[in-house]
Amino acid sequence: MDLFSIKNKVIIVTGGTGVLGGSFVIALAEQGATVVLIGQNEAIGNERVAALKKQGKEALFVAANVLQEADLINAKNTIIEKYGKIDGLVNGAGGNLPDGILPPGEDVFKMNIEGMKKTMDLNLWGTILPVQVFGPEIAKTGSGSIVNISSVNAKRTVTRGLGYSMGKAAIDLYTKWFAVEMANRYGDKVRINSIMPGFFLTKQNKNLLTNEDGSLTERGNLIIKNTPFKRFGNPDELVGALVWLLSDASKFVTGMDIGVDGGFTINSGV
Ligand code: NAD
Repeated sequence: MDLFSIKNKVIIVTGGTGVLGGSFVIALAEQGATVVLIGQNEAIGNERVAALKKQGKEALFVAANVLQEADLINAKNTIIEKYGKIDGLVNGAGGNLPDGILPPGEDVFKMNIEGMKKTMDLNLWGTILPVQVFGPEIAKTGSGSIVNISSVNAKRTVTRGLGYSMGKAAIDLYTKWFAVEMANRYGDKVRINSIMPGFFLTKQNKNLLTNEDGSLTERGNLIIKNTPFKRFGNPDELVGALVWLLSDASKFVTGMDIGVDGGFTINSGV
């Protein structure tokens, strides 16, 4: 028996068009899952699906905004029509939006509240809404699994991105709360957990961590200094935790947050 098997499971990855999402999609397809990418960038989505299909994998892209219920319902109908079931959901859409970031030296009493609200909305409601729409199908399969994406910013104070940190902290509470409410209704048939990535160089944080010439910003250097492994993570280092959480190998695990952060959150710096 393959303990970590996700073969033939239909798994949705929102933000499958992004950097971490892209690596999730490849890993899940390599493990034999049928992967459905959800995102707003049709060119990237279709390109990724075509690349997977070329390798004989089954994949589908559905354009949807994770904040629009109608888009998600349309996606659900398309998936059910094509594959007949949904086994898993990875809530990868999210990030630290530029409007929600406090510029260096900015008056802390003049924070961009609207920008922070937008960032919180994307991370929190962009996680909850897909669960509301896809969850009932996932609960039907008998061994469904939902994986949210948290962040070290929800655990330690990381300057400048309050809206992002609040959104991810709210996801942590939601993951625990929803795990219990679902268990009360469905027993162990559907689980919800989160992964807490440390720092990975991607599009959403590129301008915070690197200069135009590719060298690290002061903030980028501080992160490396405070990460015991003294480097950023590689996106493919998140997929082991992801496959574990989506497979029956984690059958008795729910409401948990799994850190993949090179030691950042356990380090006092001393
Ligand atoms: P990314 O910007 O490369 O990917 C995010 C993807 O989500 C993009 O393809 C984007 O188009 C999509 N997206 C954004 N808004 C959307 C919407 N409304 N509807 C549908 N799709 C939408 O960022 P990433 O770094 O790969 O981040 C993926 C997740 O991991 C995010 O939740 C992020 O907060 C989290 N995370 C990243 C890091 C890191 O170091 N990069 C660390 C901790 C957590």
